[in-house]
Amino acid sequence: MASLFSKYEGLAGSLGAVVAAGGRNPFAVVIEKPLSSTVGVIEGRETLLFGTNNYLGLSQSVRAIKAAQAAAEACGVGTTGSRIANGTQSLHRQLERKIADFFHRRDAMVFSTGYQANLGMISALAGKDDYLLLDADSHASIYDGSRLSAAQVIRFRHNDPDDLYKRIKRLDAPDAAKLVVVEGIYSMTGNVAPVAEFAAVKKETGAYLLVDEAHSFGVLGEHGRGSAEAEGVEADVDFIVGTFSKSLGTVGGYCVSDHPELELVRLNCRPYMFTASLPPEVIAATAAALEEMQEHPELRAQLMDNAARLHAGFVRLGLNASQRVSPVIAVTLETVEQAIPMWNRLLELGVYVNLSLPPATPDSRPLLRCSVMATHTAAQIDQALEIFRQAAEDCNVPLSAKETAA
Ligand code: PMP
Repeated sequence: MASLFSKYEGLAGSLGAVVAAGGRNPFAVVIEKPLSSTVGVIEGRETLLFGTNNYLGLSQSVRAIKAAQAAAEACGVGTTGSRIANGTQSLHRQLERKIADFFHRRDAMVFSTGYQANLGMISALAGKDDYLLLDADSHASIYDGSRLSAAQVIRFRHNDPDDLYKRIKRLDAPDAAKLVVVEGIYSMTGNVAPVAEFAAVKKETGAYLLVDEAHSFGVLGEHGRGSAEAEGVEADVDFIVGTFSKSLGTVGGYCVSDHPELELVRLNCRPYMFTASLPPEVIAATAAALEEMQEHPELRAQLMDNAARLHAGFVRLGLNASQRVSPVIAVTLETVEQAIPMWNRLLELGVYVNLSLPPATPDSRPLLRCSVMATHTAAQIDQALEIFRQAAEDCNVPLSAKETAA
């Protein structure tokens, strides 16, 4: 008799090898207690958090916590239903207005997660007669959205507007509607999209452009509106999708747009319609965190200073860090045999980062992916760097000659 789980045999083998190589399962780390935005207890030890995407540290915002408490007391802890049935309270509408106003857009839709925002928008926008053009390094939520849509999917080379242009010019049905999807900052590598160049291709070819600002919202641009603001091309972006789960420190997703049809998309968007809406406490905490973000632009400046400090430290150590300074800094190692022990050693010495293994990494090499926060102190960053140095030494990970010179 066939087993439903025979397809898991390969995965069991791979996971077993990862655990055997390092002594623990890197995908089952438990933060026993967050002590602050930057420190949590893991395996009973106080550990520096450098892998939580909590860019502005707002998961611990006192203002957001108080707003959540008040909303739960006033409205309860859940809506028990979909946005298009019983799941819309005034708070949801108020948050949508706030987000739309923040982006200077006509309207916003709030989803239960950022994953669902991509899934929902991409599948609702791109229908069977349309083309969907995706960056090859797109996040899983974008790929999954393309699977839920009936559109013809075409991938273009990562961050390559010329390749996108060529592929659009080669389409069999050049007059068909085309939706181009890119991300502001790529989550694994910290690569920043050349959004102005993508916007130029969009204008030249008559395509629509959707930018997922999940990692760039609150991070890039003078006001934190993301990569399109940073490059001065917001007017050329049709849809901005994002998440509350990173720079705002809560949970949920959104899409903003000036297209009036967004109101109709609400009625044709399965991941929006067929799931319960966010509970009042999350909506209220998100609104409070957004206000805090707007009132404290210095958080963004601090975040960038911290990212530069960590990046410079990696370069000084001779580690192979992402080329561009952004709050996502990936350290690339040459082999999985180096990466697994190094990740484990970092955790034992008190630094938590994300371990990314091929084939889930862009160039088939393993990554120790770090995310920086505005709330990290200089001393915490320096301590993390010293721990990286120690872990590399303990695990025989070669550092370039620069280290001894520095
Ligand atoms: N888009 C990108 C680029 C992401 O990295 C993520 C989450 N890692 C999401 C969307 C999904 O966001 P959420 O965690 O809010 O579901």
